[in-house]
Amino acid sequence: MLLVSEDLDELLELSDRLVVMFHGQFVYGGARQRSRPDGNRPSYGGPLMMQDMTSLKPSARDEVFLRRSFEIARRSRAHGNHPFGAVLVDSAGKVLIESENGYMPAHDGTAHAERLLATEACRTLSKEVLANATLYSSAEPCAMCAGAIYWAGIGRVVYALSERRLRGVTGNHPENPTLDLPCREVFRSGQRPTEVVGPLLEDEAEALHESVWEK
Ligand SMILES: [Zn+2]
Repeated sequence: MLLVSEDLDELLELSDRLVVMFHGQFVYGGARQRSRPDGNRPSYGGPLMMQDMTSLKPSARDEVFLRRSFEIARRSRAHGNHPFGAVLVDSAGKVLIESENGYMPAHDGTAHAERLLATEACRTLSKEVLANATLYSSAEPCAMCAGAIYWAGIGRVVYALSERRLRGVTGNHPENPTLDLPCREVFRSGQRPTEVVGPLLEDEAEALHESVWEK
C-alpha cells in the first residue's frame, strides 16, 4: 500500500505501522525518541510517501530500518555525540524505541545507543514484545551491548557495520577503542536464542564515521 500526501501530520495519524519516506529516504515512523523527549517532529517540505511495512519482504524491511538507524546516528553526531544509532521494531514493523549514542555530556563510555535502548526496552516493554522485537543498529553491538540485549530478552538483532571494520575506522581512539568481539559469540554463550543478521550496508554505515575519529 502506498499513500502520498503533503501533510505529515495527516499521514502520521493513519497508523503507527507506516514509515514516512521522502525522495526514497526514510524520514519518520512515529516512534518514541528516547533522546528527544520533547517529541518534536522534523518538518519537511514537498510530498511525502508512506509505505506499509507489512507489504515489504523481510530483507527489504531490514534495510529500511537499518537506514533509519543511520538517520539516528547522523542525529547523534549533530547533537555532539558519536555517530551510532539504534532502533527497536516490533513484529508488525512498528517502531518502539529509538536511541542515539549518549557519550556526552558526562563522557559516559557505557552510553552506547544499543545499551541505552536495551535498558529502556527492558524497563518499559513486556517479555513477549521483547522476544519478538528486532533491534537494528548502525554498527555491530559490542560485548557490553550484546550482553544488555541478551539480558533485556530482545529476540533479534540486525546490524550494519561489523565491529572488525569499525575497529579499522576508529583505531584505538581514546573515546572509542573498539572492542572487537563478534556479538554472535556473546549470544552463543547465553541460554536463550538471539537471532543475528549482519553485516549489511557496510559502506553506508562506514560513511557515518567519516572524519570523526581522526584526532
Ligand atoms: Zn556497545
